[in-house]
Amino acid sequence: MQILVKCPACDAGLPVVAAERPTAIVCGRCGRDIPLAVSDALQADRAVDRCPVCAGGDFYVRKDFDPKLGLTVVIVGALVSAVFYWFGQDLIAYGVLGGAALIDLAVYGRLKDLTVCYRCHSEFRGAYPRAAAAFDLHTADVLEQEYERKIGRR
Ligand SMILES: [Zn+2]
Ligand SMILES: [Zn+2]
Repeated sequence: MQILVKCPACDAGLPVVAAERPTAIVCGRCGRDIPLAVSDALQADRAVDRCPVCAGGDFYVRKDFDPKLGLTVVIVGALVSAVFYWFGQDLIAYGVLGGAALIDLAVYGRLKDLTVCYRCHSEFRGAYPRAAAAFDLHTADVLEQEYERKIGRR
């Protein structure tokens, strides 16, 4: 399992391999020591049961979508379509645009889910079965505030 630890101090994303079970990492951006408590299930890529950063047990799943990739497909599609349009090939131009939108949808549909910690926003990628529910705004509000008080950001 790959864990993207979010630094509690500066929100930098720090990749960690759970199988190596590190007990602490140092943030590459702000230099803060971040103690990690990687559980057995995390190390074995069985489940996300406890967050190694904030010790929280509340997670949600979302699509592992890179907005930059989706945007690139749309922009390339628009450029290619503009070339056809310029040469008076309207139908092909619209076809290319529609194709780009379809590719975007297809990519989105085939994306894997990743699990995210409600409190510290660390992300978990791996082959483990996704057990968490979808994002809930109310839960996020409550848990994020609790976490920020705990680490002294509020
Ligand atoms: Zn940091
Ligand atoms: Zn966490």
